[in-house]
Amino acid sequence: MIANSWVEIDLKVLKRNLEIYKGCLNKDQQLMAVVKADAYGHGDVEVAKTLASCGIRDFAVANIEEAVRLREHGIEGQLLILGYTDPEAADDLKKYDITQALISEEYAEALAKKAPGIKTQFAVDTGMNRIGLDAARPNCCCGMIRSFARVFRMTGIFTHLCVADTPAEDEFTRLQIERFSTVAQGVSDLKLPYVHCMNSAGGLWHNDFGNMVRLGIVLYGLKPDIENTLPEGIKPVLCWKSRISMVKNVGKGETVGYGRSYTVAGPMRLATVTAGYADGYNRLLSNKGYVMVNGKKAPVVGRVCMDQFMVDVTGIENAQMGTEVTLIGDGITADEMAQNAGTIGYEILCGISKRVRRIYITD
Ligand SMILES: *Cc1c(COP(=O)(O)O)cnc(C)c1O
Repeated sequence: MIANSWVEIDLKVLKRNLEIYKGCLNKDQQLMAVVKADAYGHGDVEVAKTLASCGIRDFAVANIEEAVRLREHGIEGQLLILGYTDPEAADDLKKYDITQALISEEYAEALAKKAPGIKTQFAVDTGMNRIGLDAARPNCCCGMIRSFARVFRMTGIFTHLCVADTPAEDEFTRLQIERFSTVAQGVSDLKLPYVHCMNSAGGLWHNDFGNMVRLGIVLYGLKPDIENTLPEGIKPVLCWKSRISMVKNVGKGETVGYGRSYTVAGPMRLATVTAGYADGYNRLLSNKGYVMVNGKKAPVVGRVCMDQFMVDVTGIENAQMGTEVTLIGDGITADEMAQNAGTIGYEILCGISKRVRRIYITD
């Protein structure tokens, strides 16, 4: 069946990105692949299986559904849930051998009542103020880790850097790493197997602490921040395509789409595209975004509808019913689309909806 909108996911590019990134690490460091949010929209099972075939044994997800899904599809090794899991779900943590992040003292106590002995890693808050024990009070922090290490099978501690992609904030990143290393040293006698603080950006630009890096966005070939320069050879794994359903000529004074937000200034060739915000094509791209048609930029005109939107194909040859349109790919990256929509590449990727068919390229 031919789809109206689909993404092509090149697993060879995924493997190459992994190899290139590995080349940037220190010898004693392992890679944990972050495959939360359906592997940033790329399909968690396919991505995890591909990475497992390349030797990756550690995976991070956001919630228990994601973790169980991977287990049920045969993914082995460490599966770490980076955020909250209702303590009522403790039986599944145990049953599927999932490692749960301990996000606070209160949480650790609640989980200890339900499932002592399960695998956990303590989150440490070094300044992001999201989850974790407060690293600004290292003694208290170490005491807590120590006491819960007797209750759970604790396999590590981790923190999260919140500005590792921003050179102007290097000082704060250094402070975060320093706070984390103080805590890590305070509990070094516990010999926790995993001590980690690096995300994609940290691993590239601040990688001087920890024995594991949690690789997310760069694995998929996007920049943590639009201003970043990625290592040579890292490429986007995903292309997003759609089609033209019809074209027509419109004249000066005509308006396009809901709300009549666009008024045609002169003769225009208008094409309708078979994707919309229900596919994840962000409505904020109304009158702002562009797609590529036969290698040329075609600006979005009017508001993006649920299942369709219109683009200006004036002067673009052979734009007709059935013509393939590139929403993300050659000529427009997800990062560029994000700029046009006022967001980040991460959100664009995980916003590509279930309705959009995933097609995998393996050779
Ligand atoms: C999402 C996430 C990552 C991955 O971040 P990237 O910027 O995509 O590399 C790493 N660690 C934690 C705790 C996360 O939530």
